[in-house]
Amino acid sequence: MYDIAIIGGGAAGLTAALYALRANKTVLVIEKGSFGGQITFSPLVENFPTRASMSGAELADALTEQVLSLGAEVEVDTVLKIESTDEKKTVVGEFGRYDAKAVIIATGAKHRMLGLPDENDFVGEGISFCAVCDGAFYKDKHVAVIGGGNSALQEALLLSKLCSKVTIVQNLAFLTGEDKLQEQINAADNISVIFEATVKELVGDSSLTAIVLNTKDGEQKLELDGMFIAIGLIPQNEAFSDLLDLDSYGYADSDESCSTKTQGVYVAGDCRKKSVRQLTTACADGSVAALAACRYLDSLK
Ligand SMILES: Cc1cc2nc3c(=O)[nH]c(=O)nc-3n(C[C@H](O)[C@H](O)[C@H](O)COP(=O)(O)OP(=O)(O)OC[C@H]3O[C@@H](n4cnc5c(N)ncnc54)[C@H](O)[C@@H]3O)c2cc1C
Repeated sequence: MYDIAIIGGGAAGLTAALYALRANKTVLVIEKGSFGGQITFSPLVENFPTRASMSGAELADALTEQVLSLGAEVEVDTVLKIESTDEKKTVVGEFGRYDAKAVIIATGAKHRMLGLPDENDFVGEGISFCAVCDGAFYKDKHVAVIGGGNSALQEALLLSKLCSKVTIVQNLAFLTGEDKLQEQINAADNISVIFEATVKELVGDSSLTAIVLNTKDGEQKLELDGMFIAIGLIPQNEAFSDLLDLDSYGYADSDESCSTKTQGVYVAGDCRKKSVRQLTTACADGSVAALAACRYLDSLK
């Protein structure tokens, strides 16, 4: 029986582990993919205190090493549900069952899809979500980036250094990313933006060769080699909907101490309902949730 089981090994989950371990609790972190979470896909992080610039992978590695060196136990498993009683929480994974006195859910969020019928067939065959992972496949080629927020603009800027041409397709009449990023987009001579447009159709046999857009001036076909989707995230809370109050977007409700409606169950990071989803706020949530869980454990004695 662990003191605390943490579901998700991203910035929030690993920071929660750090705080819990330093409070002498036994900790298990269960991660289904890469330790470090979403940020491992980011080429450059320039807003995390202490370092002017580093890659997401560097940050993730440093945090993972720090937590392991303090004695965290880790499992690679996909958590399917939590069985909760007053005495214990059993975290049920695809490969195992893990008992703990308290649980912190730090499952983050995953990429939102466009919702087109054949979209999944083109993933990896022209559709991508990560410029740092897949950008090199499109060297000197034309790609589209769908979306106009911070992630979309960061992806477009990175791709503009590799690709001959980058077309941003934004459904609104303006971009919503930070001013600084917009300035860089405007300054890049191989990036153009199509405003008030949505993707209507994907074209290609085995791989994507064009997209058809619905624009305010009618349909437009855009020949391209690849398309990067950056239209937001879906919180990964479905498996825990019996224990959490979820809002209409699926984000988990919690109070200021990251406590949920279920005693001994806490939420931290991007999966939680809040206004800012960044590394700093994920880490902040992780520390708050861990300390709240520690107080809960101490109250059981
Ligand atoms: C391309 C990109 C660039 C970004 N750039 C910046 C930046 O420059 N600065 C900044 O501050 N923020 C940036 N962000 C946002 C930042 O990465 C997130 O806010 C932060 O990583 C959220 O951390 P988290 O731990 O809450 O979630 P995540 O990082 O999403 O981690 C959640 C983890 O939980 C795991 N998981 C989910 N469900 C389960 C399950 N059922 N069982 C087991 N494991 C599960 C996932 O695999 C994942 O590893 C960026 C995000 C992206 C995608």
